[in-house]
Amino acid sequence: MLFCPKCGSLLKPKDEKGKRVLHCSCGFTNKDVDKVEIKETVNKKEREVEVISDDQEKMLPLTDADCPKCEHKKAHYWLVQTRAGDEPETKFLKCQKCKHTWRDYS
Ligand SMILES: [Zn+2]
Ligand SMILES: [Zn+2]
Repeated sequence: MLFCPKCGSLLKPKDEKGKRVLHCSCGFTNKDVDKVEIKETVNKKEREVEVISDDQEKMLPLTDADCPKCEHKKAHYWLVQTRAGDEPETKFLKCQKCKHTWRDYS
């Protein structure tokens, strides 16, 4: 949730010339929506990562992936449906060795 820095109302997304911006009924418009979305994604990632317990992890399939932290070649992976159902699933990877978790952007 984002609030207007001018009047404190909740900002609403809208499309302006094909670009998504946040605007307020007082006339304030947030053009920095790209930055905002990245921040939301990071918060989401941290939340999703927390919900994987050790038991769940054992059930996850292994895949060939290079851990960015320890360079181990195998990682557990799972898919998360983020936000609205019309967006593609996001793949998360968890290193088999050091337990580092990251998101697959490819
Ligand atoms: Zn406002
Ligand atoms: Zn690792």
